Amino acid sequence: MNYSGIDLIKKLGLKQRHRNRDTVSDDMTKFLSTSIFFTAAAAVAAPVLAEEVNVYSYRQPELIKPLTDAFTAETGIKVNVAYLKKGMIERLEAEGDRSPADLVLTVDISRLAGVVNAGLTQPVESDVINANVPAQYRDPDNQWFGLTTRARIVYASKDRVADGEVTTYEDLADPKWAGRICTRSGTNAYNVALTSAVIEHHGEEGAKTWLEGVKSNLARKPQGNDRAQVKAIWAGECDISVGNTYYMGKMLGDEEQKEWADSVRIVFPTFENGGTHVNVSGVALTKSAPNKDNAIKMMEFLTSPQAQEIYAEANFEYPIAPGTEASELVQSWGEFTADDVNLMTLAGHRSQALKITEQVDFDG
Ligand code: FE
Repeated sequence: MNYSGIDLIKKLGLKQRHRNRDTVSDDMTKFLSTSIFFTAAAAVAAPVLAEEVNVYSYRQPELIKPLTDAFTAETGIKVNVAYLKKGMIERLEAEGDRSPADLVLTVDISRLAGVVNAGLTQPVESDVINANVPAQYRDPDNQWFGLTTRARIVYASKDRVADGEVTTYEDLADPKWAGRICTRSGTNAYNVALTSAVIEHHGEEGAKTWLEGVKSNLARKPQGNDRAQVKAIWAGECDISVGNTYYMGKMLGDEEQKEWADSVRIVFPTFENGGTHVNVSGVALTKSAPNKDNAIKMMEFLTSPQAQEIYAEANFEYPIAPGTEASELVQSWGEFTADDVNLMTLAGHRSQALKITEQVDFDG
């Protein structure tokens, strides 16, 4: 999927009109008309841009560009984005006080916490952002803020798994799944965050027992990415896998992978004493931000309900601001209640999670 900013904004406008919610629609109309006006004007003659903001992003251009274009159109502030594949912390550390970066955009609590724990961020006090981002999806010390969430769920074979056969994460350790589960490596960040959530709910020993149980149910050694597990279900190698929600959307949009997606349905497991495990994409202000005021303006823009919905729809994720909704496709996968633990608490369990994953030789 690769929409231009205007396409996305038009799509979103249509969706909003169908919703028939007056207050949101009014805001949206204003947002849309401003964005489209300025984007169109920019295409004719680029305005002189004295102001700028610099972003280091682990997220891909097709997700970020519609947002940066809309932000520039609204504010006249130019956005320069360095798209990184790895090494963001090392780069920020090496650049030190002279780093050009103002904002960091990434997914996964481990990466957000990593930047914070390395002392590379600064807190942001903004009533606008705090109103847009529920407390569980931002750092208690305001060092990072979530923009969207994704749930880590079960992909279940439509043919071989009955409704209600798996309802909890604890179920995955039940011997009834022996030889029927596929997963990626236990040390992958997504699985480490899930194991951290198990630690939060059941303690380290409980989580270790759970990991041992899941391991003994595996159809094959952990390998590949989340989509490769759905392919294995499609191929009959296993019946359920653990994966992030947005991969359903990505698979449905891919000619080869659509068949894999069509062979499974999404089940939203919960913890026995909690909700469904989610992770975030988020943003943080760097400690050395040379364009701090503009960067905070951009954070306020990115956390706005409208921007969250654009961002979420582009990657089949969930916007988190009060009153926002996921796209129709994403909503069609079902409803769930997110586990309400603050993600920074999970980040605190990360090293324990990695330790027990190695102790049970999960990938072995
Ligand atoms: Fe992913």
